[in-house]
Amino acid sequence: MEKPLKIGVLALQGAFIEHLKIFSHLGVSAVEIRLPKQLDGLDGLVIPGGESTTIGKLAVMYNFMEPLIEFAAVNPVWGTCAGMIFMAKKVDLAQPLLGLMNITVRRNAFGRQVDSFQVNLNVSVLNDGETKPFPAVFIRAPEIVEVEKDAVVIAELSDGTVVAAQEGKWLVTAFHPELTDDYRFHCYFLSLPGGA
Ligand code: GLN
Repeated sequence: MEKPLKIGVLALQGAFIEHLKIFSHLGVSAVEIRLPKQLDGLDGLVIPGGESTTIGKLAVMYNFMEPLIEFAAVNPVWGTCAGMIFMAKKVDLAQPLLGLMNITVRRNAFGRQVDSFQVNLNVSVLNDGETKPFPAVFIRAPEIVEVEKDAVVIAELSDGTVVAAQEGKWLVTAFHPELTDDYRFHCYFLSLPGGA
């Protein structure tokens, strides 16, 4: 029998509990990660939504930057919202970044009037993605303004705004799949092959 998966959710700040609940619902062991040494033995890591400047500053303070980059070199990593910003190569504001994904991100892209909204997205990489739209919840969300090199678009709004991308085993979503009862993004993340 294959060894069961163990997923970490970075728990420095933000919406980590919701991700943990979904993984446990899916029968996958998932743990809060608060120190770099806890990355050992994980099969994948989620970086949650929250406030990306805060997550970045805490990651620097707790000496997470190098260990996270090394972990991501061989393991799947998924950033939601602030987590996506933290994983990007380029962001419109100055802040600590892991600089993994070849994307350029613009923070708080949807303005004050539409701080939060929900839309149905067609995401063809998901199970039944062609026929069953994914309910995407956006909260003070960033947008992806450029996708380069090996990064590919996996979801966009009807006006063409890019809101999810993948680069090999790295996944980013500008929205919050952990705030819905549709677990297909979590299942998709679990299906990404690790390299270890
Ligand atoms: N606006 C936040 C930021 O720029 C992200 C919001 C979120 O994660 N829901 O970091």
